[in-house]
Amino acid sequence: MTKFSEFGLDEKIVKSVKRMGFEEATPIQEKTIPIGLEGKDLIGQAQTGTGKTAAFGLPMIQKIDQKNSNVQGLIIAPTRELAIQVSEELYKLSYDKHVRVLAVYGGSDISRQIRSLKKNPQIVVGTPGRILDHINRRTLKLDHVETLVLDEADEMLNMGFIDDIESILKEVPDERQTLLFSATMPDPIRRIGERFMHSPELIRVKAKEMTALLIEQFFIKVHEKEKFDVLSRLLDVQSPELAIVFGRTKRRVDELSRALDMRGYVAEGIHGDLTQAKRMSVLRKFKEGKIDVLVATDVAARGLDISGVTHVYNYDIPQDPESYVHRIGRTGRAGKEGMAITFVQPREMGYLRTVEQTTKKRMQPLKPPTWDEAFAGQLRLATEKITEIITEENLADYKAVASELLENYDATDIAAAMLKMLAKEPDQTPVHITEERPLPSRGGGGKGKGNYRGGGKGNYRDRNNSGKGRRGSNNGSRDRRSGGKGNYYKKSNNNK
Ligand code: ADP
Ligand code: MG
Repeated sequence: MTKFSEFGLDEKIVKSVKRMGFEEATPIQEKTIPIGLEGKDLIGQAQTGTGKTAAFGLPMIQKIDQKNSNVQGLIIAPTRELAIQVSEELYKLSYDKHVRVLAVYGGSDISRQIRSLKKNPQIVVGTPGRILDHINRRTLKLDHVETLVLDEADEMLNMGFIDDIESILKEVPDERQTLLFSATMPDPIRRIGERFMHSPELIRVKAKEMTALLIEQFFIKVHEKEKFDVLSRLLDVQSPELAIVFGRTKRRVDELSRALDMRGYVAEGIHGDLTQAKRMSVLRKFKEGKIDVLVATDVAARGLDISGVTHVYNYDIPQDPESYVHRIGRTGRAGKEGMAITFVQPREMGYLRTVEQTTKKRMQPLKPPTWDEAFAGQLRLATEKITEIITEENLADYKAVASELLENYDATDIAAAMLKMLAKEPDQTPVHITEERPLPSRGGGGKGKGNYRGGGKGNYRDRNNSGKGRRGSNNGSRDRRSGGKGNYYKKSNNNK
């Protein structure tokens, strides 16, 4: 384990890193930063959540000459969210060195970006299309770029940006340093390495090294039809602060978020069919704590750094171990604890074992919570809430009436009534989730035609239920994280 003070970074940079609360370098940082500082080209392969931004960001910031007002560092990222995220991280990492960082991306007012570009950012982070646009308008000049980063290269490839990237690469001086990061290494990415880089060093952090040790991993064996009730009860028992539910398809995400909403959870979904604006707004709400449960497909959640996620629920087990690692990497980040629970249909146990072979970690079996347990969970939450109010709030105005109540009623009855008001009974409102078939059994078996598209009409009926209290109404206090705002970072005492 290497400390950040041991890389030979500028003192000011080390100070900023400390301020961010990083104690030790992650494996990819440990390997990448020294090579980056030497000025060599590098290809880094590591999953999301391993700290790649600082891995390329710190050497880049170290190299920036503050007296030089040209763009010296360029980072290309696949989506607007990622561009913003990277620029925010770089802003923090360079806080004490006072480097000017700007994010440029599509879907946002170009004339404002042009004005920001005129203020001489030293690092520009952008999406391929918008960078090209600025190059063509001559509002972005790249002839002094010394460090170029391709972040999430495979994702850019999937999104069809390869030609754009090649065009941008031609605008950047040849004697630059190039760093490329990618979760996977398909051939076209390798080829970029060969054509546009100078004998790059290959750094790989294997999946098992990065399965955060702090993530507790469980599985629940459950039939498709019962999944949704199990999910609701888990949410009641565990009352996660911030949870992500992963579904296999877009339809699943839509249906799950609607169904969760019907049962009184504050949930929204994201997937690739939504407009970028919609995805952004959902993510912002989630980061600000206005949504408790985010439902997502793998693709939509890819690469996003959402901190504070306490629970990941895999409503469907992913088909490949890589996605599994990706998904659970949404939690347990930056040294925090997290929990991942994977639903497995009995026929899918083979997939579970494959995942375990990759992560080298066994998942612990978990029993689906019962209605009573779910209810107990909600009572516990209500009790905590009451305790919090008694210890932290000024109740003077309420005491006179409280004494009156106590004269007329038994104290236990009054307390029970309060609990009844606050606690949400496990909600069993019928919902509709289209059934998905289990994944085909490994090595033969179900290789039917249309594959795992659902057909059935699982209508979840309930028993004798009555409770329908909405959850949103009684979760008053909760710490709000502030979402990122502006994107042009300039410090007051900056220039010279
Ligand atoms: P990646 O690009 O690999 O997905 P990020 O760079 O987005 O990962 O980092 C994920 C999270 O971990 C961020 O919140 C980041 O601030 C945090 N982080 C990065 N490096 C460290 C570290 N050395 N110690 C603690 N937290 C870190
Ligand atoms: Mg990243």
